Amino acid sequence: MSDRELYCDTCGGVQPFETPPCADGHGVDCPELLCTGCGAAVLIATFTFRPARLADRRRPSAGRHAA
Ligand SMILES: [Zn+2]
Ligand SMILES: [Zn+2]
Repeated sequence: MSDRELYCDTCGGVQPFETPPCADGHGVDCPELLCTGCGAAVLIATFTFRPARLADRRRPSAGRHAA
């Protein structure tokens, strides 16, 4: 079990977080953490967010209805 310190909104400050027992088979990569201060569970993003469609081209509407 690894501890890490994260900011907790509920506690209003940085608290040590611990990984809860994981029943989903995530193992050490479980994205869930429990605040040891208030017991709130948080999800940490262990994956990289891809830029959401920033390049979404806005075509000038040509009178077509979007499906
Ligand atoms: Zn898990
Ligand atoms: Zn907390």
